[in-house]
Amino acid sequence: MVDEQLVPRGIRDRRVLSAMSRVPRERFVPEHMVAYAYSDCALPIGEEQTISQPFIVAMMAQSAELSADDRVLEIGTGSGYGAAVLAELAGDVYSIERNTILARQSRERLQRLGYAHVHLRCGDGTKGWPDAAPFDAIIVTAGGPEVPESLREQLAIGGRLLIPVGRSPRHQSLRRVRRVSTDDYRNEGLGNVVFVPLIGEQGWHEEES
Ligand code: SAM
Repeated sequence: MVDEQLVPRGIRDRRVLSAMSRVPRERFVPEHMVAYAYSDCALPIGEEQTISQPFIVAMMAQSAELSADDRVLEIGTGSGYGAAVLAELAGDVYSIERNTILARQSRERLQRLGYAHVHLRCGDGTKGWPDAAPFDAIIVTAGGPEVPESLREQLAIGGRLLIPVGRSPRHQSLRRVRRVSTDDYRNEGLGNVVFVPLIGEQGWHEEES
């Protein structure tokens, strides 16, 4: 996966490549999907949701420019795979999942695998995790109609927010928002992506998705 999918597509950060080689992806997919765990694609994890393609996980982690003691917020825990990769690269990781079944499964899985510094919450991640803010990086793994104001506000100065944003719930462009001062944010586009919809108060409404 690392040599054939990540390096040829431009993942150069050694820490990211090493994290991707350490996290056992087969432990994050349903049993009938284990044979495809290292395939170059997203896979179904139940509840109509997916574990993201390995390249996308690595690209978002690289673009977040993480240091070992960074505090990171992830929106969309899903299988818990992305949270485990972030935990290999940063300090405390906070992750929010809105689906109760996936939240329970990923909590049990991450505990079993020893990821003690991943903190999980079930709820609407578009509102962020105010008690644990500010964050050095925020990674949103579902696509919203715009950047949620709460997430921008919960970025530390110098912090990076990665989020797929698009006019339709299933086609987005990946944005990196960097907070350069209290009131100043810089926006960059990192290319087109396809994520499941971000559903919540500052995302899509359930019926729109
Ligand atoms: N990071 C995940 C992984 O490694 O398996 C991939 C997650 S999947 C592409 C996106 C997840 O976002 C889904 O599990 C979905 O239920 C969740 N989601 C959508 N809207 C959300 C919200 N407002 N708050 C929290 N989770 C949300």
